[in-house]
Amino acid sequence: MIILHGFIAVYEILMSTNLSDVQEQAVTGRESSAPCSAIPELTPREYYRLPWSLTDNGISWLEVTDACNLACEGCYRPHEENHKSLEQIAEELEVFKRHRKSDCMSLAGGDPLVHPQIVEIVRMVREGGWKPVINTNGLALGPKLLKKLKDAGVAGFTFHIDTTQIRSDSEANEEKGHNPLRTKFAKMLAAEGDITCSFNQTVSVETLDQVKDTVTWAQQYPDIVHTVVFILFRSPGLIGDYEYYANGNKVSLDDNYDDSAWGGSNLLQAKHIVAKIREVDPDFEPSAYLSGTVNPDSTKWLIAARVASKDQGFGYVGPKFMEYVQHLHHMFKGTWLSYSSPKMTGRGRLTTALFSLVDSSMRAVGKRFFGSIRKSQSSIRDRLHLQAFTIIQPVDMLTDGRMDMCDGCPDMTVHEGELYWSCRLEEIKRYGCFVHAVPRGRKEPLQPTIN
Ligand code: SF4
Repeated sequence: MIILHGFIAVYEILMSTNLSDVQEQAVTGRESSAPCSAIPELTPREYYRLPWSLTDNGISWLEVTDACNLACEGCYRPHEENHKSLEQIAEELEVFKRHRKSDCMSLAGGDPLVHPQIVEIVRMVREGGWKPVINTNGLALGPKLLKKLKDAGVAGFTFHIDTTQIRSDSEANEEKGHNPLRTKFAKMLAAEGDITCSFNQTVSVETLDQVKDTVTWAQQYPDIVHTVVFILFRSPGLIGDYEYYANGNKVSLDDNYDDSAWGGSNLLQAKHIVAKIREVDPDFEPSAYLSGTVNPDSTKWLIAARVASKDQGFGYVGPKFMEYVQHLHHMFKGTWLSYSSPKMTGRGRLTTALFSLVDSSMRAVGKRFFGSIRKSQSSIRDRLHLQAFTIIQPVDMLTDGRMDMCDGCPDMTVHEGELYWSCRLEEIKRYGCFVHAVPRGRKEPLQPTIN
């Protein structure tokens, strides 16, 4: 299952221009009296820049099949029954071993659970020294298969569940309608024990307001929902005025991608998601990021980690916490950390106590926790959990035709012995090279419009 970490790379950039008041209102859904400043101007340098790089990263991305049991809006993979053999997978793992350290290996597709040898693949990945994390729509997952995958060494799941899908197991047409299904998977993993549970959701301008429902739902389950990822929708319908070239020839991207009403007509940035989350959680504060390869002000991956008991949140960790955790993990385990285990995320009290020494945000979290104990003695028994919220802003196209990719891309994959951005692999498969965009004329960045 590959969803929208981007696609064949054709996007308009909106990075440098502020939205007008009215446009901001259209994007956020706030009343017109809401000030424009409701949309925060994110300043990446205030956050910890994750040290992930091409050769040493938290994550790598192994695609095991293009086959899938669902069709999602914006998915750019042909759903062919082309399961990779175990020999091919062993070869690709060798390429990763040679070129790139990583803590986790995301198993992706298509949907990796439709690969008939997925259990063996998970075992191979674990034996190779990575934490296997399966990216799936979950349709093929039941307790029996989960048990087998756990025995083989699976470390986590990232469930893609959202309204881009027409699902037989959840017929919701709004994000909150899928929450019972999300809860079902979280509880299934919790019952098996010690498996990280993440959810990702594609967000377009049409579904932006529904981010609040997903956040509110997830915050009820900090013990079993460890990460929520919002991935900003990109589609050819949102691009500017460009021509595309591959191998010296003009090419059309229309064959690959359909426009989608679901995707709306405006491009979102990470800050719009931040604004939405703050409507339901005013304390929401990111602490770590990956920048763009071209635009130093872009936050391509933006991560916030919340400290919460089952009953209440106590705030968000700060950049120093993120920095120490990454470096301690690298010092003792040799890799940059990604997908912490539930055992680790469930040690929020110890973590808060230790990191209060170095992180002022953690000190604030500690104070709030002690304040809650003063109010209610029973809080002293509450377990604290770390719950992450990640916003991914895939490829952006600049007005001069350059592509702003995620610097230190965690989703590099292998194709014919080489490492490529997984979001642009179709270009390589189709043309043998990346597509280059040439603007027909330099224009002001396209801005969201009001409907
Ligand atoms: S550059 Fe990497 S992390 Fe960013 S959207 Fe593409 S594949 Fe995903």
